[in-house]
Amino acid sequence: MNLLDVSNLHASVETDDGPQPILKGLNLTVKAGEVHAIMGPNGSGKSTLANILSGRPGYTVDGGEVMLGDNNLLNLEPFERAQMGIFLAFQYPLEIPGVSNMEFLKASIDSLARARGEEQPNTANFMRTVRELAGSLDLDPAFLKRGVNEGFSGGEKKRNEILQMAILEPEMAILDETDSGLDIDALRVVARGVREVREDRPEMGALVITHYQRLLDELQPDKVHIIVDGTIIESGGM
Ligand code: ADP
Ligand code: MG
Repeated sequence: MNLLDVSNLHASVETDDGPQPILKGLNLTVKAGEVHAIMGPNGSGKSTLANILSGRPGYTVDGGEVMLGDNNLLNLEPFERAQMGIFLAFQYPLEIPGVSNMEFLKASIDSLARARGEEQPNTANFMRTVRELAGSLDLDPAFLKRGVNEGFSGGEKKRNEILQMAILEPEMAILDETDSGLDIDALRVVARGVREVREDRPEMGALVITHYQRLLDELQPDKVHIIVDGTIIESGGM
């Protein structure tokens, strides 16, 4: 079954000069367990697609459909999409001073558990898991006590996004240039993080926006799509 099904998506962004069309009939299907890469020039609509899938305000969907399994995503609030298993690793992660990384992760996982009628994880066990995962991403445990992304370097912010993904266990992970600005070692750490999550949860789908062959080499995506001017103009294998 298709996990994510985007059909004929048209969308525009609100600008001071009125709506500007960005996505112009985009089609994309990701099956459970597949990794798809999206590449394309700056301004072609990659982040717009990622943002619209996750429900960021400021965009208008002018046509088309987005399904996650049997659910029509476009009518849902961002938090409802998260509850259904959408996760977005931001291209530019924000800092949230005053909210510790660990508290943020616990509040997130508790909120998902409540929404799904599941038991909230035991705090001590949860903190141990988070510390282990942070270690495997080469993130110092001290980062867990600091404000979310507060004063983190670019690479640390990106690894922190992968930590969130590993904790929140999405059905469909969208990574928007998580490898940008990383040196080769940090990129390997990020790729290893994604691979480890997939080993634990082989059914997770992933949409990986990147400019770099190196990440493709590390992740071996099932499909690679080229987006230009708001549509996918070519799809193929590695
Ligand atoms: P990509 O991620 O492929 O580089 P984006 O999806 O970020 O591209 O942007 C696509 C186009 O939409 C660009 O021309 C960009 O300037 C425009 N755009 C995106 N968001 C906004 C916004 N909030 N206001 C005005 N223009 C925007
Ligand atoms: Mg972008």
